[in-house]
Formats: sequence, structure tokens, C-alpha cells
Amino acid sequence: MAKDYYETLGINKGASKDEIKKAFYKLAHKYHPDKKGGNEAKFKEVNEAYQVLSDDSKRSKYDQFGSGFENMGAGGFGGQGRGFEGFDFSGFQNGGADFDFGNLNDIFSDFFGGNMGGDRTQTRRGRDISTEIQISFSDSIFGVNRKVLITKTSQCMTCHGSGAKTGTKMETCKNCNGQGKIREQKRTIFGNIASTKICEVCLGVGEVPKEICETCKGKGVLRREEEISISIPAGIRDGEMIRMTGAGEAISKGATGDLYIKINVTPHPIFKREGNDLVMNLNLKLSDALLGIKYPIQTLDGEIEVTIPEGVSINEILRVRGKGVPIGKNKRGDLLIKLNIKLPSKISRKAREVIEELKKEGI
Ligand SMILES: [Zn+2]
Ligand SMILES: [Zn+2]
Repeated sequence: MAKDYYETLGINKGASKDEIKKAFYKLAHKYHPDKKGGNEAKFKEVNEAYQVLSDDSKRSKYDQFGSGFENMGAGGFGGQGRGFEGFDFSGFQNGGADFDFGNLNDIFSDFFGGNMGGDRTQTRRGRDISTEIQISFSDSIFGVNRKVLITKTSQCMTCHGSGAKTGTKMETCKNCNGQGKIREQKRTIFGNIASTKICEVCLGVGEVPKEICETCKGKGVLRREEEISISIPAGIRDGEMIRMTGAGEAISKGATGDLYIKINVTPHPIFKREGNDLVMNLNLKLSDALLGIKYPIQTLDGEIEVTIPEGVSINEILRVRGKGVPIGKNKRGDLLIKLNIKLPSKISRKAREVIEELKKEGI
């Protein structure tokens, strides 16, 4: 139904700006919803008419493309459906509530400069999803393959995404004649605007199955539990994120989203990571520190024997080459062993005698 803004305000087409203003004030006063006997719907109509007719450029466009302009009025946008994500119409559609049409021009420029005027046939893409997994410290150092079960929209295994019943063929989409997109002309206050949108029947493919797959009801995708194998690289750090391209949610006739996996590493009771080196503390007896000893140590690679040279001091660090974090293919960081000499808190009488002897030796 075409709106006649002149009729709404009860004026004729040649009305002056002053006449428009007067008519608006009179009617706005009459229909104001806060007043007893007010009429919100009428008030909105009056306001809408005034916003257009009081603006010279809008008025002339309205005079030229009356009905086209009307289509763009509140509610006219709503039916457009897809393609307006991220664009908030609420302010416009509820414009009558607060009568703020100040951003009308912005809305129009967004509308035509962005989604509407452009080609709306960009690739459909499934959602990105994320999950977390916990791995041991050792697995974080050497890498590991893990499998996870994720319930998500995935490609249909029966039809492999085609949506067609096995053994049946595809046929040209009648809605778009196989073009995959539909051109539409819109008459607007800015003239005729051509836009292209994805065909809603074939979703841009141009073909539809003759008979649809029963498993997915022709969608090519369905929600199911999928086992995903994740290859966690050697040397990954706690909190690092792995991105698996195409392992996210599938979408009918579109690209699959990505899967992000956050890796949580369980701390190790002995080893800590410092860059590409592993660090551990080793408590030595005083006599071992003085005389030197061979010491068995459990590393992440299994047991090794380290030689503690005689006369080591507190906080000295022994470096075991190549027992740290893998760097690339053939290189590894080192294992650093921080020596701590444990002094006895109590000594026997005999030990005291011996130490007295050591003292005489100047030790
Ligand atoms: Zn299927
Ligand atoms: Zn189509």
C-alpha cells in the first residue's frame, strides 16, 4: 500500500515548508501517544511523513519515486532476510518511538553502499568452533596425536554433501535457471538499483538433486558426532592454539569453518620448561658434591647417568646436551640440572670428628 505523505499531513502537493511544519505540529499534538486519546500508530505515520517532506532532497525524491520510497520505509527492510547480518535495523524500525531519524542517511548509505548494492553472492561459510584438550608434559615436548569426538554440523556421509539420493542425478535449478544467483531490480528514491543475491533454492550451485538424500533431507549436512584426529606438534606450549582449517561446522553448499583447539599442558613434577631447555633440580649430598659421583636421572627420554664432577658448588648447573625440547627435525634443546647441596641438619659424633679433621685440612 503506497503511503501518501501529503495526505497523512492533510496538505496538498504544493505545500510550503511552513505549511508542512504547521500541519505536522498540529497532528503531532493531536496524536501524541502520551496524551489521553493519543494514537501511537498515527503519530508515527505523521512523523514519518514529516521527516521526508521537511527535507528538500528527500521530498523531491519522494515526489519522483513515491512508491519506491515507501518500500524502504519502516518494515520494508525486514523481509530482505539474509545479507544484513551485523546491520541493526532496530533503530530505524522503531524510529517512531523516539523520532530520531538523524542517522537515516547513514542507514541508507550502509544499505546501498554495502550489502544491498553489492553482489550478495559471497561464499557461504560454516561456523568456526573451538575445543580444549589436556595433554601431559611429555606429550607437549615430543608431540602426540589425539582423537576427539565433537558433535557438530558435518558433511552428510551418505551423499557426501551433494544432498542427492545415491545414484540419482542433479538437475538445473528452476528458480535461477542454473545461474545460482538471482538479479533483482529495486525502485528506490535513488533510482533503480540492481542487486544480485544467492538463489535460495540451490544456494548458489545452480543445480538441485532430482531426488533428495534421505539421511540429510537434501541439505548435504547434518548434525552428528565426528571423530577428529589432531596432530599436536612437538614443543607446543601450555595455552597454545591449533587451528584446523575446514574442521569446523559444515554448511549446505558452502565452505566448512575452522576448528580451534586450545592445548592445556599438565605441569610436570620435576621438569620445567625454559625456552627450548628443560630444567630440573637435583639434591646432592655434601660428600657427593665434594668427591663427585655418577648419578642416575630419570629424563623424559628414559634413565640416563650423569657424572657429577668433584668439587661442584651450590646452584651450579650441569648441561646435558640434546635432552631438551625438539627444535625442528634433528635438533633439541638441553636438559639443565641445577645442583643443590643438601647439608645435614644433624650430624653424628663420628661425623663431627671427621669434619673436625677436614677443618684441619683447610676444607
Ligand atoms: Zn545426505
Ligand atoms: Zn537456484
